[in-house]
Amino acid sequence: MNISFHSLHNIIIVISTMVYIFMKINDIIIIIIHFYTSFQVFEEVNMLKESIRYQLHNSGADLVGFADISHLNDSRYRGYNTAISIGVKLFDGIVDTITDAPTYMYYHHYNVTNLKIDQITHQGGVYLENLGYKVLPVAASQKDPHAEPDYNAFFSHKTAARLSGLGHIGKSALMITKEYGPRIRFGTILTNLPIEADTPMTENLCGNCMVCTQACPANAIVGVNFTLGSPRHSIYDAHKCHDHIETHYQKSGGGMVCGICMQRCPLGIEGKRGWSPDHEDDY
Ligand code: SF4
Ligand code: SF4
Repeated sequence: MNISFHSLHNIIIVISTMVYIFMKINDIIIIIIHFYTSFQVFEEVNMLKESIRYQLHNSGADLVGFADISHLNDSRYRGYNTAISIGVKLFDGIVDTITDAPTYMYYHHYNVTNLKIDQITHQGGVYLENLGYKVLPVAASQKDPHAEPDYNAFFSHKTAARLSGLGHIGKSALMITKEYGPRIRFGTILTNLPIEADTPMTENLCGNCMVCTQACPANAIVGVNFTLGSPRHSIYDAHKCHDHIETHYQKSGGGMVCGICMQRCPLGIEGKRGWSPDHEDDY
């Protein structure tokens, strides 16, 4: 068979075009498979997140949030990219027994709530570990009187709660949630679970309110709004607070707690939650 140079040229062009089209189709198929797989992984991770949230609520947590802590520059947290924040609310009836001093009832409730949080983080930790993840449950009350400069704990529950969108840090240095104001305590599980974090809260509900500053018997609350990046002692003097409690409430049956700023905060008062203290006249 005699094939002319022109025909051979055309055949080569056709074959090259077909190979090119095949390669492009192959690329498109690979991209579709990649997207589909990513979507499936995303769906699985989201399902896992919701199942962990469900498990923690089922164990007794009132609020649960997921924070990305991979940016925290501290070797103690190396290997942990996620902090799961767990909040357990306090009973209003008991908080409202605090007037100008803590009560034994509040002291007991504070300890029982911490114990409950530790049980929830322990159960959550076991659940995650059984799924193959590394966990470090951080105790609910881990104030270290020897830690400088101001009794900083191993890991700040407020950082985890703030980054996971459960609330913001108030002038009192307490965590302020929309649901319960500051009438809630927190625990944290550090884990290497790869998960999409919740969105941090950007609002600050304190506004011009000065209720906690005026109520604090130790003058420990400066009265300024917390700004991201500023140290805790710029808004609250932990030494003044600690010394006042140690001097005045040790023998009152109240132990090492106070709670006056927490009890007075308008954002925690039942029926007023979500209310802005800027509208103090309405209150
Ligand atoms: S706990 Fe008591 S002493 Fe400490 S800041 Fe609050 S009101 Fe002041
Ligand atoms: S008492 Fe007022 S200023 Fe203090 S934390 Fe509550 S809302 Fe903020």
